[in-house]
Amino acid sequence: MSKVIRVTVWNENRHEKNPNMPTGQIYPEGMHGAIANYLNTLEGVKAGTATLDEPEHGLTDDVLANTDVLTWWGHGAHHEVQDEIVDKVWRKVVFDGMGLIVLHSGHFSKIFRRLMGTSCDLKWREANEKERIWILEPGHPIADGLPEQFELEHEEMYGERFDIPAPDDLVMVSWFKGGEVFRTGCCFHRGRGKIFYFRPGHETHPTYHDPNVLKVIGNAVKWTKPSEGYAVGYGNRKPLEEL
Ligand code: ZN
Repeated sequence: MSKVIRVTVWNENRHEKNPNMPTGQIYPEGMHGAIANYLNTLEGVKAGTATLDEPEHGLTDDVLANTDVLTWWGHGAHHEVQDEIVDKVWRKVVFDGMGLIVLHSGHFSKIFRRLMGTSCDLKWREANEKERIWILEPGHPIADGLPEQFELEHEEMYGERFDIPAPDDLVMVSWFKGGEVFRTGCCFHRGRGKIFYFRPGHETHPTYHDPNVLKVIGNAVKWTKPSEGYAVGYGNRKPLEEL
């Protein structure tokens, strides 16, 4: 792994192209552009982007070979993501330790559901309501520099139960004005890889311009980056000492 953390910010990038939706105006360079632009302000991070409609969804073997952390935003076109690409991403995470940050409606992506092994279903409501995010674990690296809690004035509601396995670390929960709560910042380990699910980011709100939200994503890039442990071999072994 290089010293610089190489991030690929993946986005479905369909809402941005829809003139009947505000997404393209909120994010002239797409949600992926907003996230990548922020990440490129961080020392030791170099971010590029990839989108669904590019060949191989922008996730060619070459791009994946040069990605330490992949972030994933998808919504209406999860089914259009080719299974071969999902297989490659799965192998990169589980065998090579590529970090994966799953954002908002990415909860229903093929890659997240495969890694979790559950439905990843949840309750939702679009009412432009206030979300308050509480940081439960101030000592966790993903909480670096964040306040005890912060608010997003307008967001979509996601409510429990969120059908995921119990996270290895639950770093944040959300409260919504309508009364629901949600496990908003969840850490998982799968094989060699680290996965962070982060809830905010509905396409009609400027969530990926919010400094606290961006800070969480930047911290998560640093937490999910591959470890530098030895390369594992499996299968039949000769004994290390005489038997
Ligand atoms: Zn949404």
